[in-house]
Amino acid sequence: SKYVYAFAEGNRDMKDLLGGKGANLAEMTNLGLPVPPGFTITTEACRVYLTDGHEPAELAAQVDEHLAALQDAMGKRLGDADDPLLVSVRSGAAASMPGMMETVLNVGLNDESVQGLARVADDERFAWDSYRRLIQMFGKTVLGVDGRHFDAAFDAVKQQRGTDSDLDLDAADLRAIVDAFKAVVTEHSGRQFPQDPREQLDLTVRAVFDSWNSPRAITYRRQEQIPPDLGTAVSVVAMVFGNLGPDSGTGVAFTRDPASGAQGIYGDYLANAQGEDVVAGIRNTLPLTELEQLDPESYRQLLEIMATLERHYRDLCDIEFTIERGRLWMLQTRVGKRTAAAAFVVACQLVDEGLIDLDEALRRVTGGQLAQLMFPWFDADAAKDPLTVGMNASPGAATGAAVFDSATAVARAAAGERVILVRRETNPDDLHGMIAAQGVLTSRGGRTSHAAVVARGMGTTCVCGAEALEVDETARRLTGPGGVEVVEGDMLSIDGSTGEVFLGEVPVVDSPVVEYFEGTLDPAAEDAGELVRAVHRIMTHADSRRRLAVRANADTGEDAARARRFGAQGIGLCRTEHMFLGDRRELVERVVLAETDDERGAALDELLPLQRSDFIELFTAMEGLPVTIRLLDPPLHEFLPDLTELSVRVAVAEERGEPDEKDVALLAAVRRLHEDNPMFGLRGVRLGIVVPGLFGMQVRAIAQAAAQLRRDGVDVQPEIMIPLVGAVQELQTVAEETNAVIADESRRSEVPLDALVGTMIELPRAALTAGQIAESAQFFSFGTNDLTQTTWGFSRDDVEGSFFSRYLERGIFGVSPFESIDTDGVGRLVRLAVEEGRATRPDLKLGICGEHGGDPDSVHFFHAAGLDYVSCSPFRIPVARLEAGRAAI
Ligand code: PEP
Ligand code: MG
Repeated sequence: SKYVYAFAEGNRDMKDLLGGKGANLAEMTNLGLPVPPGFTITTEACRVYLTDGHEPAELAAQVDEHLAALQDAMGKRLGDADDPLLVSVRSGAAASMPGMMETVLNVGLNDESVQGLARVADDERFAWDSYRRLIQMFGKTVLGVDGRHFDAAFDAVKQQRGTDSDLDLDAADLRAIVDAFKAVVTEHSGRQFPQDPREQLDLTVRAVFDSWNSPRAITYRRQEQIPPDLGTAVSVVAMVFGNLGPDSGTGVAFTRDPASGAQGIYGDYLANAQGEDVVAGIRNTLPLTELEQLDPESYRQLLEIMATLERHYRDLCDIEFTIERGRLWMLQTRVGKRTAAAAFVVACQLVDEGLIDLDEALRRVTGGQLAQLMFPWFDADAAKDPLTVGMNASPGAATGAAVFDSATAVARAAAGERVILVRRETNPDDLHGMIAAQGVLTSRGGRTSHAAVVARGMGTTCVCGAEALEVDETARRLTGPGGVEVVEGDMLSIDGSTGEVFLGEVPVVDSPVVEYFEGTLDPAAEDAGELVRAVHRIMTHADSRRRLAVRANADTGEDAARARRFGAQGIGLCRTEHMFLGDRRELVERVVLAETDDERGAALDELLPLQRSDFIELFTAMEGLPVTIRLLDPPLHEFLPDLTELSVRVAVAEERGEPDEKDVALLAAVRRLHEDNPMFGLRGVRLGIVVPGLFGMQVRAIAQAAAQLRRDGVDVQPEIMIPLVGAVQELQTVAEETNAVIADESRRSEVPLDALVGTMIELPRAALTAGQIAESAQFFSFGTNDLTQTTWGFSRDDVEGSFFSRYLERGIFGVSPFESIDTDGVGRLVRLAVEEGRATRPDLKLGICGEHGGDPDSVHFFHAAGLDYVSCSPFRIPVARLEAGRAAI
């Protein structure tokens, strides 16, 4: 096998083999950009090493060969005593894992070559500084010495010299530090710092391989759902030095602003420094634009290279570079990470620049990014006092008083205060506090931790894993970087979209993107802003591309109207149960308590006009578009008082000798209707069959509403949907009654009425017998909430706060199957039902109305499964439109 590639042998498409860094170094080399020569050891070599416990046998010879070529190219030998070649050894996997694995610089220095380097560079201080860096990095990374021992030794010398700046140290001081560091290595690793340059190289490569399985890399991969067995590549690159004096330096840059997408030069530069100084934030960097004064020639060349890279990659790139004595070197590039806003803006800019087309622009934004842009934001212009950055676990902007336990959160929230619940990590006992809080902040745990999963489920803003925070729950305080303290009651602001945490209260503003969708902000208006214009443009393109229609789950005229503004093409699910609450509860009680058909009929007659007006409202808001009304689904006892409460009330009244007859009857009914497993009890179509007149009343209300509006010239398109059907016989029974009622109302009103009658497919049996069910159904709508519940046997009401966080942490699934469709299991039932349903009835209309209808990955699945529409909550409609467009290109 070929385990080593010279940069000239690779290209950017070889990320799997060469890692992102190696592939892009190769690409830049072949573009003729100034990249220091080097070679990359493949991820395959790493995989062999990790599986077999040792490097593949051919590796050493292949490294020899490439090292020889590198030495020839540079005219120097690795670690040569007179004029040493030094190399950096850099990790780089196919997927970006920033800072998770190791890199060692200055490999090749030893007690002799440091002298040679000093002579050649004519800079003794520089040579000793480079050597101490090598011992420190090698000691930590390869030999596992705790970094604090090096820091202590360093500080001791600085103290002796009476300074706290590295720059005040001279060559002799750095030489003393080298001696101290070597002693640290010997003491804490049990071996001496290796003097043989090749041994240094081999040990470092192995350490980089090993760093693939460091605990933080493993945690990161789990969170980001990166497969655990890919391995990392290792790039060996000839060193260039940014710490060779004032005409040297190092920097990072973006080809446009990764925060806003604005065009321009964004980056930081640090003179007389090596790369790790910039990243570590040890010294204050300069804005990159100041390089123009310091070194106009390098600056000009850098701008030219950035333009070349953007044109070549057709995207925003980020780069790392070093200037060695006025000569510019490119050390890294990749397509740069960016905020959600920048993703939209940059994509449209690139279209305008002719680098990509609109399809490609659509590919480059995601529904997740659009969702982020729809939450309220922290005011971009407000002054902010940043505390730290954690993981962006659940989007939104939240401010409130810091509290450190759930009881306090609940108490303060009950008193009307806004609170942020701060915990080291949360557990199921924190649920009440999480519900009460505006936001949740934890110092431990990743995006699949309990806090993250539960907060996302509740739609509560959450930042997790803010590791720089020391949370002391007993003392009710947290300590941040630099010793900043926050005690109970202090205001905090957290941004769940970016992971940022701020001290104090940052003002929150409505998202202009929502104003745009609401129709209150015209994208063509002068002051609409570049972001809104970009969102409008990409949404318009998505709409022109998508095959899936998007409908809304909405139960009120108000929700329906908003959904329509957001682009809904109808209602896919009106859950009629909400119409049975409030004042109407009493009527429902009468239906339940009725002892004769007449009594029940009378109660239903009173409900009828109320339901009719509900439907008139809904049909009016959705004029000209289909409205799917689902007949009552939940068991009737959900509308009755709680068993325990009612028992107590009855007992107390009896004790007093004043029994309330109505309560006594109610209690008997509650007992009679009580179910241990109401989810699998008397609900849905079963209710329609068992409670005479109930579904009939609902259908009559629909028909009357439709007749009245049609008479007034309103275009009404009702679709009547029967829930929880498992067998065609159930559907047949209800469909016959439904059609009879419609025919009857049509006759009475003399308005021709037609309504589609269809069913939900939300039980495995319904999916498995879809071919039969389609004989009685004009449409199917997949109820993926119940279908997931019944396929997995997971209680949808209990799992999220319970064992799911453990399942996610253990990687049993990457995401909750209630959030994103389980394509293998539940999805297979969906595909089967689509195929067999259409075989029976080719014009069968197919939709989905479970929560998955607004989930990006699920939308792609439903597109591929051949459905006609997805239906989701109004706020997620733009996301579904965008993803349906992306699925179609
Ligand atoms: C479903 O089960 O997916 C569904 C849409 O119905 P509900 O959530 O009301 O049970
Ligand atoms: Mg359901």
